[in-house]
Parts: sequence; structure tokens; C-alpha cells
Amino acid sequence: MELFDVTIVGGGPAGLYSAFYSGLRDLKTKIIEFQPTLGGKVNIFQEKMLWDVGGQPPIVAAQFVENLVAQAKTFDPTICLETKVQNVRKEQDYFVIETNDGAQHYSKTIIIATGGGIYKPIKLAIDGAEKYEMTNLHYTIKGIERFRNHDVLISGGGNGAVDWAVELLPIAKSVTLIYRKEELTAHEAQVRNLRENGVEIMLNSELVSLQSNEQKTAIEQVTVCQNGDNTTFNIDDVIISHGYDREVSLEFDEDIRPECKDNYYLQSIGKCQTTVPGIFGAGDIVTYEDKVNLLLGTFQDAVLAVNSAKLYMNPEANKVAMVSSHNEKFREKNQEIYANV
Ligand SMILES: Cc1cc2nc3c(=O)[nH]c(=O)nc-3n(C[C@H](O)[C@H](O)[C@H](O)COP(=O)(O)OP(=O)(O)OC[C@H]3O[C@@H](n4cnc5c(N)ncnc54)[C@H](O)[C@@H]3O)c2cc1C
Repeated sequence: MELFDVTIVGGGPAGLYSAFYSGLRDLKTKIIEFQPTLGGKVNIFQEKMLWDVGGQPPIVAAQFVENLVAQAKTFDPTICLETKVQNVRKEQDYFVIETNDGAQHYSKTIIIATGGGIYKPIKLAIDGAEKYEMTNLHYTIKGIERFRNHDVLISGGGNGAVDWAVELLPIAKSVTLIYRKEELTAHEAQVRNLRENGVEIMLNSELVSLQSNEQKTAIEQVTVCQNGDNTTFNIDDVIISHGYDREVSLEFDEDIRPECKDNYYLQSIGKCQTTVPGIFGAGDIVTYEDKVNLLLGTFQDAVLAVNSAKLYMNPEANKVAMVSSHNEKFREKNQEIYANV
């Protein structure tokens, strides 16, 4: 049985920074993440420019995730991807974490960093649509270059759909936004931006069919129904932004079930400790007064949760880690970095 000091459930920003900080504090660390990639829900808005992370110049979200992942790997944590944590129970003085593949993971402490749960995009309810997901039907945007000079149709009226329309405007040949309701629900300023810059907005409209090319590999035409009238037009790419279904599947045995707010958020009793000794929370999943549900807040939580875990295992340990310049762990790494400057 391999026993870890800290097992982090969730590989979003909170989990990733927890992994880094846990390594910094000499703890044997594992991350378990359901998705095939790390980064959490930032992967939903990979092309968004992030402006509000301290000390970080405006950065594309995808690059930010790459940096976070690299930092999380500094102390070589064990990483399990495509693995869903289903249940946590306690045996003697360690936790047993059961995952969907039938495996069991053993850990002295757990940091729950599951954010809003597991996000899955709401798929288009048109028969056979899934076969175009390999070509030109998109539920997320990994890079905007592929849309250069393309006719793009975006379905959705919330911030996600409108943000994508704004991003694609300068490079696409045309952007058409369709939405089933009478008004877009996105931020007013973004909607104004769309209207002033030539996006065709079709309200009271929805996609009713997709017509494929001869090889039946990609969508060539779409039919949109607006107020009962059908219009068919050519299109190069279809982007669906109909929101996300959220799956919340993590359970705890009754004797170690942490107190939750609104039946979901872990209630912190201070320093990101839950009501169950040995179980901590970081990021969007944890709540306390004046909580900040932003990337910045996840880092603060991660540090608090790891320090609390360290003290739980060793009450004599330093309450916080040393600053970087005093930390033994960085000496060797610093030399490598300076040598390459
Ligand atoms: C559209 C949008 C735009 C945003 N823009 C900004 C911004 O500009 N600036 C900013 O600071 N913040 C922004 N945020 C907020 C920011 O994304 C979140 O605060 C941050 O992602 C929270 O990180 P987290 O690690 O707590 O949770 P998440 O990012 O939600 O990560 C949780 C991870 O846990 C995994 N997981 C869940 N359950 C399980 C399980 N049972 N087993 C295994 N893995 C599991 C999930 O798959 C996920 O990867 C934005 C959020 C959204 C939705």
C-alpha cells in the first residue's frame, strides 16, 4: 500500500497550486483529476485574455494553464488523469479514496479542490451531430487561428457565446450568432461591441439541421429556424455554447462527511480546514466569509490548506513555508535557472 501525505482531488488552479506548495513543504503528493487534462474550468475559456492575476501581464488562459501545470510539477507529484473520485472513507489514521476505475488511493490527508464539480458541455440535440466533433463542430475553442477567413456560426446567447464572437470577429470572414431567446443574456458592453462590429445576430432562432459535405465528415450547411421560418446557409465552422452540465459525484462515508453550505460548498472552519480533521478544501469548492471565487483566491486557499495539512500531520512543523529565497528546495533549481540566463 503506497501512502501519500496529501492527495488532492481536482487538478484545476486550486489543485495545481496545492500540488506545488505541498511539494515545497516536503509532502508526498498526488493529484487525481477526472478530465484528460489539467487546468480545471479555465480550459473552458482557453482563448480568454486574463488581466486580473497578480504580477502576471495579460495572458491567454491556455498559456496560464500551461504555466500552472509546469509549476505544479516542480516537485514531481503523482498525477492520475481521467480518474474520478467517487468516495472517501477513513481507516485507522489514513483515508481511502475510491475511484471510478475500481482503484483505492491511500492518504494521510486530503485536499478537496473540485471547484464547481465536473463540467461537461451541453451537446447539440440533433441526431448524428457528434460525428462532426472531430472536424468543424466545436464545444470549446483551442486556438482561434483555425477560424481565419471562415464563416462561423455560434449558437448561444450567454457570456461564453458572446465572448467567442468578440474574439473571432477580427479574424473570421463572418460571424453569425444565433440565440433561441428574444435578448442576449451576456454583458451589455460585449453585446454592444458585437452589434457595432458587424456580427449578424439572429434572435428567436435555433439550429434545426446540419448538412454534411459529400464525404459526410464535416458540416457544410446549417438550417436555422427563426420565428418559424427556416433559412439554410453555408458555413465553415459551428460553435455551440449552450452552457455546461455539472456533475457532482464525490461522496464521503457518513462518519467523515464534512459540513457543507447550500448542500455543496465545503464550510471552512478557518485556514481551509473542513469540519473533518485531515480533510481540507481549496478553491471554488470551499466557502468562508469574504471568500474570493477567482484565480487569486484559489492560490491563497491552496497555501492555507497545505499548511493546515502539514500541521495536522506534524503539529511541531513550521506554520508556514519559508519565502522562496530561504527555501532549500530551490537552491539547486535556482543554480540551473541562473546558468541558463
Ligand atoms: C467563464 C469563466 C471566466 C472566468 N474568468 C476569470 C478571470 O478572468 N479571472 C479569474 O481570476 N477567474 C476567472 N474565473 C474563475 C476561475 O476560473 C475559478 O475561480 C477557478 O477556475 C477555480 O479553480 P478551482 O481549482 O477551485 O476549480 P475548477 O477550475 O473548477 O477545477 C476543479 C477540477 O476538479 C475536477 N473534479 C471535480 N470533481 C472531481 C472528482 N470527483 N474527481 C476528480 N476530479 C474532479 C474537475 O474536473 C476540475 O478539473 C472564470 C470562471 C468562468 C466560469
